[in-house]
Amino acid sequence: MIHPDTELRWVNSTVGYGVFATNLIPEGTIVYVKDQLEVSISPDNYLILDNNYREIIDKYSFIDDKGNRIISWDIAKYVNHCCNCNTMSTGYGFEIATRDIFPGEQITDEYGLFNVEYEMDLSCGYENCRKRLRITDFDTYYKDWDKKLKKIILKSETVAQPIMKFVDKETQKELRTFTSTGKQYKSVTHLRYKPEMALVNAGMKMNGNGKH
Ligand SMILES: [Zn+2]
Repeated sequence: MIHPDTELRWVNSTVGYGVFATNLIPEGTIVYVKDQLEVSISPDNYLILDNNYREIIDKYSFIDDKGNRIISWDIAKYVNHCCNCNTMSTGYGFEIATRDIFPGEQITDEYGLFNVEYEMDLSCGYENCRKRLRITDFDTYYKDWDKKLKKIILKSETVAQPIMKFVDKETQKELRTFTSTGKQYKSVTHLRYKPEMALVNAGMKMNGNGKH
């Protein structure tokens, strides 16, 4: 679910649609939450779908830490990448405004945190544009992203949070621990999908079942 002060607008035929702020969204505001209405496609279900469906899924989804492809039920699925983005995913699962976002400004994201499985060209037009989104971006940049997010997340308590009610209670608790003590920060590495770990877990489950 995306922040309520947003709307869908056509950008151009290259970019397609984008999501724009309709009011000031201050730095530290939660802009997106993976709520209970999102469509979640498991790795197994993705594999058995035909290419026509996979194309749609690839276009609109991000991949969570379990390898599930998440498609938002609202306009969140239209948020575009920008190397100079104004929102970013956090280790807490939600996305946060990394600076003040002004009315009429496009909401943009860092796709490097989305566990992408294929590379794509980037053309955000900024001087610091990476030109290409790489599968290795997560590992290359996560330390920089954490450094930046740590300061911003601390501000999250000082601004209005209209979609905080959709953040699960456990995560709210973890967030409060960090914002009140400055300790136990949850790194963006929690978002990293590690397929080999999923296999290990599946193996453990099978072994466990065998014992019963
Ligand atoms: Zn770029």
